[in-house]
Amino acid sequence: MIDLQAGNFLQSSVGNFIIPSERVAHVQIGNNLEHALLVLTKTGYTAIPVLDAKYQLHGLISSPLILDNIMGMERIEFENLSKLCVEDVMNQEIPTLHANDPLVDGLKLLINHPFVCTVDENKYFKGILTRRVVLKQLNAYIQPMYYKEKD
Ligand code: AMP
Repeated sequence: MIDLQAGNFLQSSVGNFIIPSERVAHVQIGNNLEHALLVLTKTGYTAIPVLDAKYQLHGLISSPLILDNIMGMERIEFENLSKLCVEDVMNQEIPTLHANDPLVDGLKLLINHPFVCTVDENKYFKGILTRRVVLKQLNAYIQPMYYKEKD
């Protein structure tokens, strides 16, 4: 059996695997929904972080959240795109990680979230841990063990 409890991998720090903040598409507090929708559409991501000018994390904005907030009872209220700001509709109930948390904590959160934001002790945004990066690393870790056992 593959001995995952060898554990070096799962105990390694989340910080080793994050996409750093400067490479993460985001919007700022004060941006309207139209701007957020443009960023989401152009980047192809479904959700991105909402930061302030100091790079503190406030929440996540997503295309479904934006669409939900422009859907009226009888028509799409396009005017809300310029009227509402990201902080009016963003999701603030989000899990976060710290760079020195073990990867196994990140793995657990990634079951229900495609990515998890990493912050420091003052909530300054450091980057994101994504499913893709973790699965890629896990795959690279497991494959040699698997084929070694088959030999
Ligand atoms: P992935 O696991 O690479 O498919 O990424 C999962 C999700 O993480 C994406 O749908 C985005 O919401 C978010 N994401 C990944 N990379 C970035 C990035 N560079 N900037 C902003 N969001 C990202």
